[in-house]
Amino acid sequence: MNKGPIALNDCDLPQLEELFQELGEKRFRAKQAFRRIHMHGARSLDDFTEFSLALRDKLKAKEALPLLNCTESSVSSNGTEKYIFESPEEVPGRDGVRKRIFEAVWIVSNGKDERTRKTLCISSQAGCTLNCTFCATGTLPFIGNLRTYEILDQIYQIQNLRQERITNVVFMGMGEPFHNYDNVIRAARILNHPDGMHLSARHITISTAGVVPAIHRFIDERQPFNLAISLNHPDPEKRKALMDVTEKHSLSELLAAAKRYGKELNRRITFEYIMIPDQNMSDQDLNKLISIARHLKCKINLIPLNTTLHGWRAPTAQEITGFQTALRNEGILAFNRGSPGKDVDGACGMLALKSLKARSETDSKKELLYAGHNAAPTGESPEGAEGSAGKNTSPAAEAAAMRNQRSGTGGL
Ligand code: SF4
Repeated sequence: MNKGPIALNDCDLPQLEELFQELGEKRFRAKQAFRRIHMHGARSLDDFTEFSLALRDKLKAKEALPLLNCTESSVSSNGTEKYIFESPEEVPGRDGVRKRIFEAVWIVSNGKDERTRKTLCISSQAGCTLNCTFCATGTLPFIGNLRTYEILDQIYQIQNLRQERITNVVFMGMGEPFHNYDNVIRAARILNHPDGMHLSARHITISTAGVVPAIHRFIDERQPFNLAISLNHPDPEKRKALMDVTEKHSLSELLAAAKRYGKELNRRITFEYIMIPDQNMSDQDLNKLISIARHLKCKINLIPLNTTLHGWRAPTAQEITGFQTALRNEGILAFNRGSPGKDVDGACGMLALKSLKARSETDSKKELLYAGHNAAPTGESPEGAEGSAGKNTSPAAEAAAMRNQRSGTGGL
């Protein structure tokens, strides 16, 4: 382990055991600390009441418990609530330091068993190095991967603020989770841990735009979490125009990985499909989508577009029903997930973009300009799944990531 202060809430149990061993403490102290943080929601080392004052002081001298700052929230008429978070860490940039800013969305819906499902959609990166044309996050500067504690603290803080427990977590907020593979999987495992929140793995969903090598890694590792793929177009060339990840990982490779997932893990993969009239809802698109879905163990979540970027429009209720019914008539599981949080800029990246602009119009412009001037060739995060997936975001790594950040042009 490194010699600097260690964020205790960034560690999984084996890492904590190693850390306490280095401190000359008994191994069971690690489990106590893990439970205190992830089961009982400690917000300070003073909350470690099972530790003596001497041990707490010893920890304070060497370790830390960094927390996010929740800077704003907004509630939608249907109960969906969006939260903006700021990291306590400063990241070097061309014009000085800045902080990672990202968002999480609380979504309430009724589950099929009539109980209320409380889903939290969380971010895995501040910004994104991909550039899906329907997504606002691509227009934000990429400030780096979130550390494990930054992923988890979105959940812990929102539960604290709301005084209620979530039932489902989806990694569908800002960022491509598989470009921050190690931190995302570590966070999911901590959420699932019996000494943590003990959230069922089947209630944790990781959604990728299509980083194929990471999907294979996920399958190889037999990860127990749900996997979703943001599909959005069934045609290889048209998908490229919507989602630049397709230039690096073709649709056929992606579908082959999805097939392997179903076959080897015996699980149903979820395809997300943002419905954009005149882009991916024609009869031809529908037939191609049916042909893909027929050959895979899958379900399709339909999400009506909820912004007007590029002059696009939202589908009408009739168009949505027609598309869904056509899929269902072919025996395909297709659900209309709606557009929760429409009136709170519920689209990916929207509220953070607004927040950034409100905080410092000048700085935001500088950063966006900086991103534009330094646009890297098509590709993925330097910390992408291939090669160095999931490295922690050291300042050096983040500086490198920023050098490679891309300018976005789209937005959902
Ligand atoms: S939709 Fe695309 S651009 Fe937006 S956060 Fe997800 S992967 Fe990144």
